[in-house]
Amino acid sequence: MRVAVLPGDGIGPEVIGAAVAALRELAPELELVHGDVGLECHSRRGEYLPDETMELVKGSDAVLFGAVSTPLSAEGYRSPILTMRRELDLYANLRPVRNLAPGLGLLDLDVIIVRENTEGMYTGDESVDEEGVTLSRRVSRRACERICRFARDIGESSGRGRLTCVHKANVLRRSDGLFRDVFYETVRGSALRCDEMLVDAAAAELVVRPDALDVIVTLNLYGDILSDEAAALAGGLGTAPSANIGDRHALFEPVHGSAPDIAGRDLANPSAALLSAAMMLDHLRMPEPAAALRSAVSGTVADGGRTRDLGGELGTEEFASLVVSRLRS
Ligand code: ATP
Repeated sequence: MRVAVLPGDGIGPEVIGAAVAALRELAPELELVHGDVGLECHSRRGEYLPDETMELVKGSDAVLFGAVSTPLSAEGYRSPILTMRRELDLYANLRPVRNLAPGLGLLDLDVIIVRENTEGMYTGDESVDEEGVTLSRRVSRRACERICRFARDIGESSGRGRLTCVHKANVLRRSDGLFRDVFYETVRGSALRCDEMLVDAAAAELVVRPDALDVIVTLNLYGDILSDEAAALAGGLGTAPSANIGDRHALFEPVHGSAPDIAGRDLANPSAALLSAAMMLDHLRMPEPAAALRSAVSGTVADGGRTRDLGGELGTEEFASLVVSRLRS
């Protein structure tokens, strides 16, 4: 099986370097093919996402993506990750959030956030006039159906108990109202306890009663914000993995961005990238190496191996070598 590896820039190459070392140890049969993307790629080749990279991505069984920096002048810029999500029709963004080790983070959390990835506020459909800017926000029945079906399948297959539809239908009656109606149609007959919550209440619930939430399905912007909040509560952005899934393609990436403030200084926590690689192994039907990788990352942290964002002293490379040595032993 072939994996397209797109490190990008900022801390992307450092954290993806750690994930590649772990994959070489765990699954040497995977063909890892590197591709060029991002700001540095643009300065070398004049393109943020070359056709050659898109071809590699389309011809691979999965994509492992690091991060790309946004250029200072964003005029005419379309982010490579948004382009890939659209072109590959990666409609579901899956963000599991849990503490890497007991006691790590502000509180204990174990939630799966399923975020609609193709519509809502992220279509970038803004029109400017003399008075201001208008944003068109699309919510289609088809997108609602497939994201709710995906969330139901994830909830059922992972043995979870509750599936909560998070929206703002008290204000956005027609658009979010459609999402809520489709949710109840789609989950009819499910063994999961299916209910709903307003997004502002869900943001508070994560802090006040974190163990009450289980699987959340929500629209694009709400999912983006709630998953960053959840990640911050459970240990920080350095620990949060994600998957972007479609019917034909899948891309795995840490939730964090390129973090230019710490790039190139061996300060990044590679856990989010390592756990994204574990999600990829599960997707490629390699559950044993996936479980081994998860346990090596959490075992390293539980034994006190921590990067600076978690209050430790380890550099990216030192942390990665501890994880790889655990995989060897
Ligand atoms: P971008 O514009 O690419 O999203 P950003 O700096 O605005 O980049 P993030 O990359 O998500 O946003 O990072 C926000 C902050 O969180 C960073 O400034 C960094 O200090 C911290 N951070 C993010 N990822 C990590 C990581 N893997 N390890 C340690 N700290 C991190």
